[in-house]
This record gives sequence, structure tokens and C-alpha cells, in this order.
Amino acid sequence: MPDTKFNLIAGSWTAGVSEIENRNPSDITDLIGLFTQASADQLEATLDRARIAQADWAGYGLERKQAVLMAIGAELMSRAEELGTLLSREEGKPLAEGRGEVYRAGQFFTYYAAETLRQLGENADSVRAGVEIDVRREPVGTVAVISPWNFPTATASWKIAPALAYGNAVVWKPANLTPASAVALAEIIDRQDIPKGLFSLVMGSGADIGQRLVESPRIDAISFTGSVPVGKGIAAAAIQNLTRVQMEMGSKNALAVMDDADLDLAVTLALSGAFGGAGQKCTASSRLVVHDRVHDAFAEKLVAGAQAMKVGHALEDGTQIGPVVSDRQLSENLDYVRLGKTEGAELACGGARLEMPHDGHYMSPGVFLNTRNDMTINREEMFAPLTSVIKVGSYDEALATVNDTRFGLTSGIVTRSLARATHFRRNARTGVVAVNLPTAGTDYHVPFGGRGDSSYGPREQGRAAAEFYTTVKTAYISAGNPA
Ligand code: NAD
Repeated sequence: MPDTKFNLIAGSWTAGVSEIENRNPSDITDLIGLFTQASADQLEATLDRARIAQADWAGYGLERKQAVLMAIGAELMSRAEELGTLLSREEGKPLAEGRGEVYRAGQFFTYYAAETLRQLGENADSVRAGVEIDVRREPVGTVAVISPWNFPTATASWKIAPALAYGNAVVWKPANLTPASAVALAEIIDRQDIPKGLFSLVMGSGADIGQRLVESPRIDAISFTGSVPVGKGIAAAAIQNLTRVQMEMGSKNALAVMDDADLDLAVTLALSGAFGGAGQKCTASSRLVVHDRVHDAFAEKLVAGAQAMKVGHALEDGTQIGPVVSDRQLSENLDYVRLGKTEGAELACGGARLEMPHDGHYMSPGVFLNTRNDMTINREEMFAPLTSVIKVGSYDEALATVNDTRFGLTSGIVTRSLARATHFRRNARTGVVAVNLPTAGTDYHVPFGGRGDSSYGPREQGRAAAEFYTTVKTAYISAGNPA
């Protein structure tokens, strides 16, 4: 049996009260490791220490902080192959995606390393004579980071990096489906020149350790990425203590394909947007809203493209779609396939459990045709390698369909018309809009987030992150009378 990996509690690697097994979704006979689960007392101990460490961190000079973030980023980038392999092994995304995710996580740290040196305030004259005003940002204190399994390293990094850069302590609760990536990142952070206990890793279940963490009055802010129901519960807990929250949740992103689109481009974007990461992305293109003039040609190419995609072990050469993350996720996906058919959608291909040489959670990419936007498969986030085509008669109908959802994270349009692209960019009710690009795939130096049920609170990433990870102080200064 492998050794159990511990939590980082108050600056020490510590065994918890129980442990979980982590198995490879590409091959469940592959036991990746055993991972400890934090106790309530350990959570309290680490929160005590975080408060002290955060005050110490404030005393570090800017360049010392910058060097810490830079070193974390550089190590992630240089170990992208090794850590990407670990990530793909436990999460199931193809190796190229795992490697890319770890490299991108490194870029979050190097970006925010530079931001440590770019924290400028504002100044002003007071309306009172002889008084000056200095406006600056200060850390909020201790930040709880709660992250999902689908981007285990990137999502955590885009929260942890700004939290540290802006001077906060971090208590991180990762998803229990991807603990190996969490321990790997925590080990890198722990080796740096930081105060003991500034950064904690508390693996445990959401219902137990996660819930205790968000209910704690000693947390100053909660940054959460995950599902809508869990997010709503966290918001309800946070309001009891008036804790600041930032939440990125699910979505039902649409890609509109217009009658003037380059159809080959549209199909490429749809396939990558719908099936990248086995469809388990909050930015996945799960609704394809297609103009009736190109509908049949698009649908034919789309189905042929989906059928040609290679499903396989995440670490094998040539795999384009890995397994889905768990057996539970697979059975929920198959329930949606049955529901879609019951609602009258036509399953043109895929959507079935696949038997493969390895015992994993494999599913063929599925395309639904002849769907309506009011069907459940077009209302609820499925988080599956499934996508639906919705036929529309005009650009106006396409835009209305794209916007007819309670979510609003990303949307896209494929068109050669500048007028339509411009109108769409300005009228799509989503936080991110893509023109002739996939709905999935964003940069790190600009804001990320959505509308409606997709997001709540300030935006993440880029300089927008300062809004959440800092609090503003306005100082009034009178020089007194010159002697
Ligand atoms: P989830 O909501 O089940 O869990 C997310 C995290 O919350 C995990 O760490 C989990 O342990 C924790 N958690 C669960 N219950 C909790 C509780 N009561 N209190 C505190 N923490 C709790 O989501 P998931 O299944 O890990 O991830 C998939 C979801 O994440 C999808 O809905 C997806 O759309 C969403 N997601 C959103 C974005 C985005 O940026 N919008 C990005 C990635 C994933």
C-alpha cells in the first residue's frame, strides 16, 4: 500500500482522522494513493496559526513576496510534464491538457508575482484645506479557497496566487477526487520562504471540512468554484458572519453558428468546446445554436467529427477524450442521455458507456439533434461529453436563444459578419464572449467570471482579483502648521 499523504496544518504535514483512496478514472485498478482527511480540531488549529502568519507576511518586503510567487510559478512550469501526468492520471483529461493546465497554473503565479510590485494606490486633496488623502489596498486577512476537481491545479492557482500576492493567508480545501494534484502544489508552496502556517491544505469532504470552513467566523473571505447548489449553501453560511464571498459556478454555454460562418471552423470550435476535458468544463459548449440555412451541413460534419474522436486512457498517445471523472458522474451522464431521448431529442451519435481494455469510466461523445432550448438537457448543466444542436431561423433568434438561460458564463458566435459579431459581443448576457473562438479557453491577465447563476461577487483573475483579495483604506493626513 502507498504511504498516506498528509494535510498541511499550521505549517506541519499532519495525519488526519481518516483517509480516502484516490483511483485513476482511466483504470480503476491503478491506486494513485491514500489521502488523509482533516479533523475539525485541525481546521481550528490551522486557522489560529493563519492569523499570526498573515501578520508576519505583511512584514515581508515586496521583493521577498515577489520571489516566493515567482519560484512557485517557475517550478510548476518546469515540472509541467511530471505534474501534468499526475493530474491526468487522477482527473482523466488527456495528457496534453493536464500538462497545459499545470503550465498555466505556473503562469498565474508568475503573473501575480509581478503584481506584488504593482500595487499602487491613489491620492487626492481633501475638501478640507491642508489635508491630503491616501487611498490604498490592504489584505483582507485569511482566505478560504474551495476548488473543484475539473481544473484541480489551475483553479486553485488562480485563487491562491492573488491571495498571497495581495498579502493574505490561505486555507485551501481541494476536491476529494483530485487530492494528488493538491498535495503536489501544496508541497511546492510549503518549500518557499513563507511564514509557518501562511498556507494550509485541509483535505476533507465538502459536507464536513468544507462546511466547517465556510461557517467559521475566523475566515475573512471565501473564494469558491464549484456547483450552483453548493455555492448557494456557501453564500448562506457566509452571510451569517458577513464573510466576503466570490463564487464561480456552473453554466450552459452556447455557441451560435451563423449562416455566413466558415463551417469547418465552426465544427472545429464546437468539437473542442463541447468535448475538451470530456465536457467537464464550466465553459463547455453544451448548446450549439445553428442557423437553419447551414444546419444540415453543420450537423453532418459535427456528428462525423464526434464519431472520429478517439476516446481512451488519459495517458495514452492519441487520446482526445479521456474517461469522465467518476462512476457516479458517468451514471448521471447516462441519465441525461435517457432524459434527452424521452424529451424527444434525437441522439445522433455516442452518449454510451464504452468498454475499453482498461476498466475506467469511458463514454462516447454524444450529439443531440432536433432539440429545443426548453428541454432539460438544454437547461441544466450536464458536465458531460454531450452537446445539443438547436436550430434557429435568424440571428435575432440565435441571440435570444443564447441568452435564454439562468446561467451566463461564456458564449460564442461563428460568423464572418463584423456587424453581427459586434452586436453579439455587446448583447450576449455572459461574462465572457468569444468571436470565432471556442467558448472554452481564457487568458490569465484579464477578468474571468459570469452572470446569473454562473457567478456571484467580484471577478477573478487579472487585476480584477484585487477587488476581492484586498480591502480599501482611506487615510486623511494633515501636516499641521509649518513650524
Ligand atoms: P462541487 O460544488 O460538488 O464541489 C466543489 C468544491 O466544494 C469541492 O472542493 C467540494 O468538496 C466543496 N464542497 C462541497 N460541499 C461543500 C460545502 N457544503 N461546504 C463547503 N465546501 C463544499 O463541484 P465539483 O463537482 O467539484 O465541480 C464541478 C462543478 O464546478 C460544476 O458545476 C462546474 O460548472 C463548476 N465549475 C465552475 C467553474 C467556473 O469558474 N465557473 C470552473 C470549474 C468548475
